[in-house]
Amino acid sequence: VTSLSVDDAVLGRRCDRVRAAMAEHDVDVLLLSVGPDLPYLTGYEAMPLERLTMLVLPREGDATLVVPGLEAPRVHERPGVFTIAPWGEADDPIALVGQLAGRPRRAAVGDHTWARFVLALQAELGAGDWVPARTLTGPLRAVKDDAEVAALRRAAAAVDAAVTDLAGSRFSGRTEAEVAREFADRILAHGHQVVNFTIVASGPNGASPHHDAGERVIRRGEAVVCDVGGTLDGYCSDITRMFVVGEPPEGFTEIYAVLREAQEAAVAAATAGTPAAAVDAVARDRIAAAGHGEHFVHRTGHGIGIEAHEDPYVVATNPAPLEVGHAFSVEPGIYLPGRFGMRLEDILVITADGSEALNRVPHDPIVVG
Ligand code: ZN
Ligand code: ZN
Ligand code: ZN
Repeated sequence: VTSLSVDDAVLGRRCDRVRAAMAEHDVDVLLLSVGPDLPYLTGYEAMPLERLTMLVLPREGDATLVVPGLEAPRVHERPGVFTIAPWGEADDPIALVGQLAGRPRRAAVGDHTWARFVLALQAELGAGDWVPARTLTGPLRAVKDDAEVAALRRAAAAVDAAVTDLAGSRFSGRTEAEVAREFADRILAHGHQVVNFTIVASGPNGASPHHDAGERVIRRGEAVVCDVGGTLDGYCSDITRMFVVGEPPEGFTEIYAVLREAQEAAVAAATAGTPAAAVDAVARDRIAAAGHGEHFVHRTGHGIGIEAHEDPYVVATNPAPLEVGHAFSVEPGIYLPGRFGMRLEDILVITADGSEALNRVPHDPIVVG
């Protein structure tokens, strides 16, 4: 999809908030290219190609979307939010951005902007001070508005349906890659436009949290970590459930009970005002108390929205309190090298009186043939 279905008034309010953040951080101009901040503020997603697309948003004055002329027909114009400045094949888009941006004392540039453009812009606009756009947009994008929560709910329901479909599938005798392809097909069939990842990690491969599904043949008696997600109408889904092929491996059931209790306790602890680090600690303390502290090798969760991983991060180094509208994963894991791994992941949205769980697939391991 090239544009998010979001109305101009919402985009206008987001631009007002980003300008307030620019004033607070003394930033004169915001420059956005590929990456999530551009669709957040304009509804338009830049093509990740060598021709420059860039929103020039001055703290005061109108925003302009510099766009390759041949891609201008893709842009859904948003009067009152930005105007379009198409550039021709013989034009210099860096010079065009320079004319629109002037000589800022401090400029913010989108975190995903290609280095070749950042370096050229630094030369064109003069030395000055450069900050990552995330400084301005991260806290804004972390708090989802009603339309964003609705989009995340739709994505979560669709990925839940894909996991439920796989519950009726056979795993034994098939490769991880075959099962991963089935996940991808079901994720698309339930309405996602893009598959972002399909981690299918069987047996000892489960001990690698981001295992790449491969040619290993899944056997009876194995546990399989399935962590899948995609993008639906511009917003991401992400879920992890454990699949067990017949009987679980030795020791799995006892350790899974620890993981499930830790995950559910962390979910219960995630309320407005609670530091993100405290939610991480709830999961970590329980897993450590059961003797598996060193087997929980990653943070408890990440924010989710236009990006699969974004602010706020549920990690020991993030003391910031959770806020109403924060959307993030709670996904502790326990990884036993050479044996098996396990992870349990749901997406939550913080509400006034606790949280809303977007994923509704039960937490029991899913037994397949
Ligand atoms: Zn991950
Ligand atoms: Zn995940
Ligand atoms: Zn995740």
